[in-house]
Amino acid sequence: MAIVKLERIKEFMDISCAAEMLLEKNEKEISFSVNFKTKEDEIVFCDTYVVYHNVVLGPAKGGIRMSENVTLEETRRLAKIMTYKNALTELPFGGGKSGIRIENSNIDEFTRISIFKEYVHMIREELIAEHYIPAPDLGTDQFDMAVIYGELHKPECVTGKPVKIGGLPGRLEATGRSVATSTKIYVEEIMKEKLNNLKIAIQGFGNVGRWASYFLEKFGAKVVAISDINGGIYNDRGFNIEKLFQYAPTKNTTIADYPEADKITNKELLEMDVDILIPCATENVITKENAGRLKCKVIIEGANDPVTEEADEILKERGIPVLPDFLCNSGGVIASYIEWRNAKSGNQTEKEEVFDEIDRKIKKCFYKIKETKEKLNSTYREAATYIAVKFLIEAMHERRWL
Ligand code: NAD
Repeated sequence: MAIVKLERIKEFMDISCAAEMLLEKNEKEISFSVNFKTKEDEIVFCDTYVVYHNVVLGPAKGGIRMSENVTLEETRRLAKIMTYKNALTELPFGGGKSGIRIENSNIDEFTRISIFKEYVHMIREELIAEHYIPAPDLGTDQFDMAVIYGELHKPECVTGKPVKIGGLPGRLEATGRSVATSTKIYVEEIMKEKLNNLKIAIQGFGNVGRWASYFLEKFGAKVVAISDINGGIYNDRGFNIEKLFQYAPTKNTTIADYPEADKITNKELLEMDVDILIPCATENVITKENAGRLKCKVIIEGANDPVTEEADEILKERGIPVLPDFLCNSGGVIASYIEWRNAKSGNQTEKEEVFDEIDRKIKKCFYKIKETKEKLNSTYREAATYIAVKFLIEAMHERRWL
């Protein structure tokens, strides 16, 4: 559910009808079909969506998702999360998202390149004018962004590029970094614990999951369970993440058969007796069916929307806090902002500076959320939504939208 409904926020602040409309309606939706012929002479049609939610803070920013589950509804939901993420972290971007529905995501390089060339062809004006600035998301990566850059030749038009062609050192790791930093702050500030005393389970070993586990191990944590779409693995002593990286070097390789571990299912991982559960794979994995069975002490949302609305209520009643996605996974867009800023200014940034900037922003947002949560007597998600709504409404007043 990412953000809570405005109805709930209205219990804490006045929101005019006009402001509500501007926060609920999408500014723009573009639907088109990406069509091309493969090397095998097969014609492929991919339904594609680009959604701008609210762009009061700046150009629409958000990743391109490519999977067989993409829908317009999902793209709208994800664009809205981006509006709130950018507002919470005070970045000069609006909320945007793209979705490319592909029947079979097991595609060769030639097909992939064709898809992204055609994608650019269909929305070239939007991209060149920087009305929408894409980045990677589930199912897409830095090399896809490189193809987009190759079509546009303007480095500020796309972020998440490989480092050698104007990408940012640390962008690849950035989302996982913010997930790990959010976890560390929560453990130290709220649980008053040390990471190395706690057991962590992570669902997903793609971009977000692998780097979250990498940094958590570096911070001293014991990651005892990890999974991907093919299944999970468990090791009570904690995994050596570098070794897992070697075993499954890309997100297209699986960790499910890693030898130095017990095999578990994704269902078992979510319900495992660990201190911290970090879903980093896909949405709606914690539902009303399993929320009552979770044994973790806190959920750190690495993926977008991993907890359904009903599950969120159950977790609230059970006293299991949830640190929301639009804080925890904001490292990606924070790094994208640095990459975009550098593209505009010609500046360059070292990896450690990027991580420092992410950590600083996450820390600042975390304390703001904690303080607001105490003031409102709310959940973390409600407090974070409240902060973002307040910021957006103030910005809409400044732009004379209200
Ligand atoms: P990815 O494609 O790199 O990896 C996804 C991982 O999840 C893979 O290990 C895959 O096997 C696993 N997975 C997919 N479906 C699964 C399922 N049903 N059950 C268990 N495992 C499953 O994707 P990513 O970029 O790591 O993104 C993961 C989530 O984080 C998404 O919700 C995405 O929107 C969100 N996110 C990503 C970024 C980013 O910078 N990549 C930024 C913010 C949010």
